[in-house]
Amino acid sequence: MSELQVLFAVVVVLYLLQCVAWVPQESAAFRATFFSGWIQAGEGFLLAVQHIRGVPGNPLPPLNGVALCQSALVAISPAGFTRVFAGPQAFFPFAGMKKISAGGKSVETGGEDIRSLEELFDTPTEGEARRLAAWLEKLRTMPEKKRAHAIEKWLGASLDFSQASARYVEFEHATKFLGWACTALFAYLFLFLPLILDAIGLARVWMVLAAALVLLMAFIEWQFVRAHKRLHPGDGDARWTALFTMLLYPVAGIRAKDVVLRDLFAEFHPLAVARVLCEPEEFGRVAARTLREFTFPIPANAAAADEPGVQCESWFRERQSTALRRFLKEAELNPEELLAPPPRSSSQSVSYCPRCCQQYALSPGECRDCGGIPLLPL
Ligand SMILES: [Zn+2]
Repeated sequence: MSELQVLFAVVVVLYLLQCVAWVPQESAAFRATFFSGWIQAGEGFLLAVQHIRGVPGNPLPPLNGVALCQSALVAISPAGFTRVFAGPQAFFPFAGMKKISAGGKSVETGGEDIRSLEELFDTPTEGEARRLAAWLEKLRTMPEKKRAHAIEKWLGASLDFSQASARYVEFEHATKFLGWACTALFAYLFLFLPLILDAIGLARVWMVLAAALVLLMAFIEWQFVRAHKRLHPGDGDARWTALFTMLLYPVAGIRAKDVVLRDLFAEFHPLAVARVLCEPEEFGRVAARTLREFTFPIPANAAAADEPGVQCESWFRERQSTALRRFLKEAELNPEELLAPPPRSSSQSVSYCPRCCQQYALSPGECRDCGGIPLLPL
C-alpha cells in the first residue's frame, strides 16, 4: 500500500466517524437510510457512562444526517411540573417558585444572585435547557387558571403536522446550495482527487487542487452560516463550534448540512416528524410504537403512588392522550388497529406484552423488560 493509499483509507475512516451523530441517550431521533428512506433510530452505539448514543447518518449522497425531536423530559400540570424518566420523580410546584432560567444544561430557579440559584433538573443539551426553561418560566408567570389551556395548546403545537412540514420545506430551501456543495466536496475528496493523483501525481497539480478545495470549503462555510442563522437564530454557539471544526478539518464540511438538520425538529413530537420524513409504512410503525408506549406506561413506583408528581404526570398524560388521538385521526390512522395484538411468531406463543410486543409462552405473566406490565393473551 502506498503512502497516498494509506492516507486515503484514514480519510475514509475519519469521514465515516463524522457521519455518526452523538445524541442524548433518551432522545428520539430519525436517520436516513440509503434504501428505505427515513426511519426512527434504534439504540445505536450506546455510551452509557456519557448518557449518549451514536446514530449513523447516511454516508452516501444525498448525505442526509440525523434529526432529533422533542424529548419527553417533563410532565406539566397547572400546579407545577415533574421530571419524567422511568416514572415520575420530584414535583416542583409553580407556587412560591422564583424565576426559572437555564444554566448550561440545567434548568434552574432562583434570584439574580448566582448563589441563590437552585438546580431543578438536568437536560441532555444546552438548547433543550434553554427551550424548556423559557417555556416553564412563561407558565410560571401566567395566572394558574390560564395554564391548562396553554399546556394543551403547546401539546397541540408539538404535534402540528403542517408546522413541522413547513419547517422541513424551509430547511430544504435554506440548504439547497449547501447540499449541492457538500455532495461536490464528497465527490472531490473521494472520487476526483484519488483519480487525479493516480493519473497525474500530486507534484504537478497540487496548487490547483488546493485552490479548488479552499474555494469549495469557503462556499460551504458561507452557505452553512446563512442556513444555520436562518433556521436556528438563537444558537450561535453551536454555529461557531461547527464552523471552527470545518475550518480545521475539511472532511467535516461534507456533513455541514447535518448540523443544520440536527435540532430542526427540536420543538416537535416524534410522531409529527415521522409523518413529515418517513414513508407511510414506517410512519405507521412509529405511530403504533408511540401509542403502545403511551397507553401502557411503565408502572410508577407503588411507594410514590400518591405523590403530587404522579398526579401531575397523570394530568399531563390525559392531555397528551387527547392530542395524540386527535393527531392520529387527522393522519387517518385507527388507534384500535395500531394497538391490535401482533401476529403469532411461534406456535408456543400464548401471550404478549402490550407495550413492547414481545411474545411469551406463559400466561398469565408479566413483562420484565417493561417494569412488570401484565401480559395479554394472544
Ligand atoms: Zn414489554
